[in-house]
Amino acid sequence: MITINNLSKIFRTELIETHALRDINLHIEEGDFAALTGPSGSGKSTLLNILGTLESFDSGEYFLDGQPVQGLSDAALSRLRNEKIGFIFQSFNLIKDFSIYDNIELPLRYRGFNAKERKQRIEEALELVGLQARSSYLPGQLSGGQQQRVAIARAIAGKPRILLADEPTGNLDSLMARQVMELLQQINEQGCTVLMVTHDPDQARRAARHIQIVDGQLHDSTLYQPLSQPLAETLGD
Ligand code: ADP
Ligand code: MG
Repeated sequence: MITINNLSKIFRTELIETHALRDINLHIEEGDFAALTGPSGSGKSTLLNILGTLESFDSGEYFLDGQPVQGLSDAALSRLRNEKIGFIFQSFNLIKDFSIYDNIELPLRYRGFNAKERKQRIEEALELVGLQARSSYLPGQLSGGQQQRVAIARAIAGKPRILLADEPTGNLDSLMARQVMELLQQINEQGCTVLMVTHDPDQARRAARHIQIVDGQLHDSTLYQPLSQPLAETLGD
């Protein structure tokens, strides 16, 4: 699904150069559930943003679903992003004065889906995250965990091949965090590749694969850990 070879990223300002990523190699298979951890400032968000084609890189190669990302025009890049990638952020990034329905619909409009197809996809996505009854609410009328589930619905309504999540539970209490984690696992079981940044060692252990980044360099990137027990078993009712 994702292959990157010798990828580097340097942020340059007038005063300093920051080597945010140094010669990174990474391979993510279709269907993987990978957790990316590392200290603050180690390059996690930079890597995720590059994988999400939201950020450029200075050298190296990136192949997304077999397609080279380097050298693409902006238009081709946004087409690739819209078709293949779903993104979830720590701060949900919902539009405050749009209803839940309209928030999920907006990227589908950009994609050019007709009204009937948009409605069908929105209803499916809301059902998956368990928020069908909230479609006319505004984001501010929902809890943090519910808002993140709306953001997940928005990300998956486009049926992406890979879901990239940057600390998706960072603003949630532990119960809501578990629900969001369980939802991501469920989405993964339905075939979507998932890569999430997390600070939570427990979540990293639950992921099938744990990738660590320190000072812009990846560690253990090929280490597969055995699948831990499903979250549902530990949640109870
Ligand atoms: P993490 O998500 O692991 O906390 P980041 O990827 O956000 O780390 O940042 C990695 C490094 O790159 C840090 O030193 C950070 O200060 C720097 N950095 C990130 N974004 C920018 C930017 N837009 N301009 C300059 N430096 C940046
Ligand atoms: Mg970050």
